Amino acid sequence: MAGQNADLIPPAKPVIGEAEIEAAVRVLRSGMVVQGPEVAAFEEEFSELVAGRHCVAVNSGTSALQLALLGLGIGRGDEVIVPSFSFAASANAVRLVGAEPVFVDIEPGSFCVDPDAVAAAVTPRTVAIMPVHLYGHPAAMDRLMPIAERHNLAVVEDAAQAHGAALGGQPVGAFGAAGCFSFYPTKNMHALEGGMITTGDPQLARTLRLLRNQGMEQRYANEIVGANMRLTDVAAAIGRVQLQQLPDWTEQRRANAKFLDSRITGVITPPVADAARHVYHQYTVRITEDRDGAQQRLLEQGVGNAVYYPTPIHRLKPYLGEGGQPGPWDLPETERAAREVVSLPIHPALTPDQLERIANAANSLAGAR
Ligand SMILES: *Cc1c(COP(=O)(O)O)cnc(C)c1O
Repeated sequence: MAGQNADLIPPAKPVIGEAEIEAAVRVLRSGMVVQGPEVAAFEEEFSELVAGRHCVAVNSGTSALQLALLGLGIGRGDEVIVPSFSFAASANAVRLVGAEPVFVDIEPGSFCVDPDAVAAAVTPRTVAIMPVHLYGHPAAMDRLMPIAERHNLAVVEDAAQAHGAALGGQPVGAFGAAGCFSFYPTKNMHALEGGMITTGDPQLARTLRLLRNQGMEQRYANEIVGANMRLTDVAAAIGRVQLQQLPDWTEQRRANAKFLDSRITGVITPPVADAARHVYHQYTVRITEDRDGAQQRLLEQGVGNAVYYPTPIHRLKPYLGEGGQPGPWDLPETERAAREVVSLPIHPALTPDQLERIANAANSLAGAR
């Protein structure tokens, strides 16, 4: 097994450094560990990443999506347009609030949602679009926002993989009614677990603050029905340390990608749209034949790798239609991507030697077919 290979380059490498440990210990020793000053500071500091928008911290990226939908009043009888080529959390959040995901395809050659498919999927019940900035590449917000405006739809950006990504200089999380980030350990920055909702609407921000805390602003003066989706101050303190390092880590990811782009000729390297700032949560190549064999050959050369995601959401059990068959979705580009993608290591801790090995291993695949 590859796990026994001491030289294996891991596909992801979450950082829990001395600074993170010190921050956690400092908060633990203070005795004030639940949502408090660290969370407020984390929200304040994170807003710089999203053009000064209001930020509301929650306990996961999935909670962020769920709360954003709830805060926008989305629920039973509503349809939300979602790409099927994403992590299940995108659609789960829609179902958890009682609404129905309507799955659409990605653009040919890209991994993000196809704006034409979105426009074609709008029905009288559609209330929102959830573009996913998959792998750290911004979705085509320049084309999606006008569609949303034309049909009066809310846009909830799933930016769980895209901290610091931008399109035309505008950061993700600063386009839609709400943007949702994740701080799960493998993401570009983490807080052990955690999430952030960003919005330009102060009223929505207030509603989200109520919703994450039992509907209370003043203790025991509950104004609405809410959940407990609070972030702890321990998590926020770790998130603050990571946020400081995010710019350097992002530059390193981008530099690693630039190197791999320049060296890899054996497989299809990741597409980058004009005006897109890709932050390479994943460096995802396409293998058009025998992906299983290719993954094995990468492992044999010590290159950890992973498929995100082998099964499109519309083919996962909770989203199958009548009789356990997939619903009436026609998503050829999604199916193709699910068959072809492999993500190679791209994390900031890679050494030049490891990058060299990754490029060589990727190039070896072309000849091995
Ligand atoms: C990670 C992720 C989420 C969920 O974030 P959690 O913090 O794990 O709940 C949602 N959407 C996408 C695309 C993700 O990658």
